[in-house]
Amino acid sequence: MTLNRKRDYESGVDVSSVFDGRGAGPSDTEIKERDGNQCARDGSIHDLHVHHRVPRSGGRDERASNRITLCAFCHRWVHHNPQAATGEGWVVLRTSDPALIPVNHVLWPAGPVLLTDEHAGIEIWQG
Ligand SMILES: [Zn+2]
Repeated sequence: MTLNRKRDYESGVDVSSVFDGRGAGPSDTEIKERDGNQCARDGSIHDLHVHHRVPRSGGRDERASNRITLCAFCHRWVHHNPQAATGEGWVVLRTSDPALIPVNHVLWPAGPVLLTDEHAGIEIWQG
C-alpha cells in the first residue's frame, strides 16, 4: 500500500495503524518537535540526534514510539551505558514494544511518559 504519509498526517486522519511496524514513520523534524527541539534527557538544544530506542540490528522500526531526541553527549551515554539506559527507557529490548515502555523525558519531570505513535504524541504514564 502506498500512502502519502505527510498529507494524511496533516489532515489529522489517524494513520497510526499504518505504522505498526517497520518502514516509514514521522520525519526527524516531527520527532524533534514532539520533544520540544531539545534533548529529552538533559534539555540540551545543541547537536540533536534522533535515537532509535530498539537497537537497529535486525531492521529499523521507525515508529514515533521508537524514536526520541537526544543530544550527541546523551546519545553516546545511552550507547555506552546500555544497562542504565534500559532502566530509564532510553533503550528498549527487541522483545518489547517501545510504545509500552515508559521513558524519562525532560519535558515531563514529574515522571516517566509513554511515547505514542498517534501523531507522534506523548502520554502521561500511570504506573
Ligand atoms: Zn542530552
